[in-house]
Amino acid sequence: MSRRTTAPALCLATHRHDPDRPRAAADGINLCPGCRIALRRHVRDLPELHADVLAQLPATRDTSGPTVSGSRTPPLPYNTRAGDWLGQARHDLRWITSLVATERGITGPPPNPATQCAWLERHLDWIAAHPDAGAFKDVFAETVGRAYSVIDPGRLPLVLGPCIEDIDGEPCGGIVKVTVRRDGDPTPSEMYCDTCDLSLDTTQWHRYGRRYQRGRMAG
Ligand SMILES: [Zn+2]
Ligand SMILES: [Zn+2]
Repeated sequence: MSRRTTAPALCLATHRHDPDRPRAAADGINLCPGCRIALRRHVRDLPELHADVLAQLPATRDTSGPTVSGSRTPPLPYNTRAGDWLGQARHDLRWITSLVATERGITGPPPNPATQCAWLERHLDWIAAHPDAGAFKDVFAETVGRAYSVIDPGRLPLVLGPCIEDIDGEPCGGIVKVTVRRDGDPTPSEMYCDTCDLSLDTTQWHRYGRRYQRGRMAG
């Protein structure tokens, strides 16, 4: 019974953990299961990260970046790292939404991160099957990662430790993180893996924490 005559397709994205190990792509797309999950998570998280970076834009909240001693150049009246990130993120969103709209022959969303990301999420299966799916996922991973280096440290996810889950029989290799939200935040607090589909609301943390400690001791 011959099924596959060609080698299985490989995930085209970059992997932070064990980057030289090839990952089989999920059926019909150009991303492995972990990267497909990560891409969806990034697209969902980006609007809120955008709002958080925007809140860092006024210069009075700029605690970042080295000051050049002896420089006579007056400081810019805004947080340059936040400004750089916002420009790059908006550029990336315009690029990918117009690419999807053009190639699919449809109308793209208005240039607003929340609208653009909601629109992209409806096209994620198509994006994951695109020949440039790896580049799309890498761009989102980079943009989301850089946002966390700009936003208020008090808003950063807490790191629980290495993930103890498997993806298709392979160790996940991701990092389990915890976002603690405040009243008024649009999304609830969550414990999640940055690589697999682990996602737990606060009612599940206690049990998972015990399982996690046992898993870490066993592993
Ligand atoms: Zn992958
Ligand atoms: Zn994981």
